[in-house]
Amino acid sequence: MLDLVIRGGQVVTPQSVGELEVGIQGEKIVAVGWPGTLATDAGRVIDARGKLVIPGGIEPHAHIGIPVPPDWTGQAEVMTQPPEAASRAAAFGGVTTLIDFAGDLSRKALSGLSRRPMLETLERRREVFRSHCYTDFAFHYIIAGEVQPETVGEIREALEEGLGSFKIFTVNHPVRVPWGHLWSVFAEVAKHGGVMAVHAEDDDIVQYMTAKLKREGQNQGYNLHLVHNNLSEDLAFRNVIRLAKHTGVGVYFVHVTAKEGVAAIEEARSQGQAVYGEALHNYLQFTCEDYQKPGGTAIHTYPAIKFAADREALIAAMLDGRLATTATDEYTTYKGPKLWGDTIETVCGGHNGIETRIPVAFTKLVAERNMSLQRFVDVTSANAAKILGLYPQKGAIQPGSDADLCLIDPALKKTITLSDLHADSDYSIWEGFACQGYPVMTILRGKVIVDNGKLVGSSADGRWLKRRIANEMLARPAV
Ligand SMILES: [Zn+2]
Repeated sequence: MLDLVIRGGQVVTPQSVGELEVGIQGEKIVAVGWPGTLATDAGRVIDARGKLVIPGGIEPHAHIGIPVPPDWTGQAEVMTQPPEAASRAAAFGGVTTLIDFAGDLSRKALSGLSRRPMLETLERRREVFRSHCYTDFAFHYIIAGEVQPETVGEIREALEEGLGSFKIFTVNHPVRVPWGHLWSVFAEVAKHGGVMAVHAEDDDIVQYMTAKLKREGQNQGYNLHLVHNNLSEDLAFRNVIRLAKHTGVGVYFVHVTAKEGVAAIEEARSQGQAVYGEALHNYLQFTCEDYQKPGGTAIHTYPAIKFAADREALIAAMLDGRLATTATDEYTTYKGPKLWGDTIETVCGGHNGIETRIPVAFTKLVAERNMSLQRFVDVTSANAAKILGLYPQKGAIQPGSDADLCLIDPALKKTITLSDLHADSDYSIWEGFACQGYPVMTILRGKVIVDNGKLVGSSADGRWLKRRIANEMLARPAV
């Protein structure tokens, strides 16, 4: 007897979209069949008539339960919301897997005085999430500053343990990894089958523009896009792509923000390089003009939100496949700390966003721009699973995959208000955003965790996920 059958919904599988039944045994999908073909004596039958049934969302970029720099908040000891709150919000937003970050960013580590082994750092980070997470979770490993040879020496072991991806910054002392150091990291990650998640900005341009705008009295927060600008993205993306070509490493560009970034990715992909790009959902909606509104920097995530032409380029690339994933760069604080800094050097990054990605993306891409449902699944789940090494365990409705599902009511019109959201926060930049379509049920490994506005999962449900990137993802642009 099946434990759970979902019946009557429009199911999006890797092969098709149609009215199918999904049969679940334990934590796995065991059958996908035409209506009436699965046994009726299941433990539970969910009537999904009028709903879309898609793989649970994968959030590829979140910063949960970490200290916020005092330069951004004017106070010590502000933390982004903890895993309980972030994963609860994620679950309500149709997300079943979060990929956060692990890494030793202590002052000692960044100055090269001491270093903690990667696997020990990973274990400490897992400990923060274990028994405190409603969804499954994984971590990109952050490598920062000047990289010690011992760190490079641990990359192989970390990949064997299932870390899968490494994150680096090309900007912002002291986390910025200098090019020579990056060369050795890229080469080693390529050799052992990992992928690089890259925050690419040109450090010289950012520093130069910061100094220039300060000198000219133009250092207000609403000028952030002039610091973290289009030229910076153009130069940095192209240098990273060049270095990736020399070392053979696959690259996942986090938060692509500008038409220049989209063009650099397109060019690399047309030459057969395994280069993938992510767009944040706030970049699909806002422009730098919105920074000028009262409290307008609440929408800001680094690098910076650009112009209308950039927003259009991101949406177009999301629709036609040049960009691969949507993400949030989740970084939730309260409004006070978020809006404390009001200069180009002090505006707090990130936003309260993990819950809104899927409904906002559905509205902007499917309802407004006719994106196909299969493509929608790609950009909210399947592509992240493929690029970051979770496929087909995650990101697919097919026998053998984890029974992670999101049911969306495509007819549901809902205007987002803060009281509808479930994060530990007191603001949302999505207040007043009119959604067409909204998640109504979330299922994690066969267990319903959110049911029609009610949390029925447990923070003990989430598990750490081992990742391994398929060779085909690293050999060429495969999604
Ligand atoms: Zn980030």
